[in-house]
Amino acid sequence: MSHNELHRQHRVGWMRAAVLGANDGIVSTASLIIGVAAANSDHGAILIAGTAGLVAGAVSMAAGEYVSVSSQADIEESDLRLERQALEDDYEGELIELAEIYQQRGLDADLSAVVAKQLMAHDALGAHSRDEIGISELTQAQPIVAALASALSFSVGAALPLLTALFYRSENVAVLVGVLSLFFLASLGAVSAYLSGAKIYIGVMRVALWGALAMAVTALVGIAFDIAV
Ligand SMILES: [Zn+2]
Repeated sequence: MSHNELHRQHRVGWMRAAVLGANDGIVSTASLIIGVAAANSDHGAILIAGTAGLVAGAVSMAAGEYVSVSSQADIEESDLRLERQALEDDYEGELIELAEIYQQRGLDADLSAVVAKQLMAHDALGAHSRDEIGISELTQAQPIVAALASALSFSVGAALPLLTALFYRSENVAVLVGVLSLFFLASLGAVSAYLSGAKIYIGVMRVALWGALAMAVTALVGIAFDIAV
């Protein structure tokens, strides 16, 4: 038997960010456009609102992702510094600590001591960061890459309702943007569910429901303003 089942864990990090970015881009820009259009604004005002929403959202996604990934990197960095120091100060103590971790995972006392010893001889800091702290190369954070990926995926998502509004000059632009955006969201939900091995209809329902809610609420806000003004 060959060992070839498909693992998906390595895709989770960047995929989560990309799907979340595109999802946010569609929902927030479509909602903005629908809200402004529902207030009976002219076509120019609708496009300005949508464009401003795209730019503001992309920058704020980049900033948020940069800050969050940076602070995660800081935490990993200081954890590694502590671990490096501990290995210098008390190598024997760290050996016992690692062996205890392997015992908790099911190895007996003798084997855990052998495994800990050999892994630490090979790469002591690597063994401790992986098995004690839980930092692997996969999770090592890259703030700039994450920031750019979020901004880009948000922009791609936001461009869909914005282009719809750009090419559809009509009183019913809010309706078309709403319907198409739900379709975009459902497609995105289906693709991400497929990639992560989840049930397709659950992925579709998840994003479509939240998107529909956001657009309905902003449509109501726009209508309320139109009535009030
Ligand atoms: Zn340690």
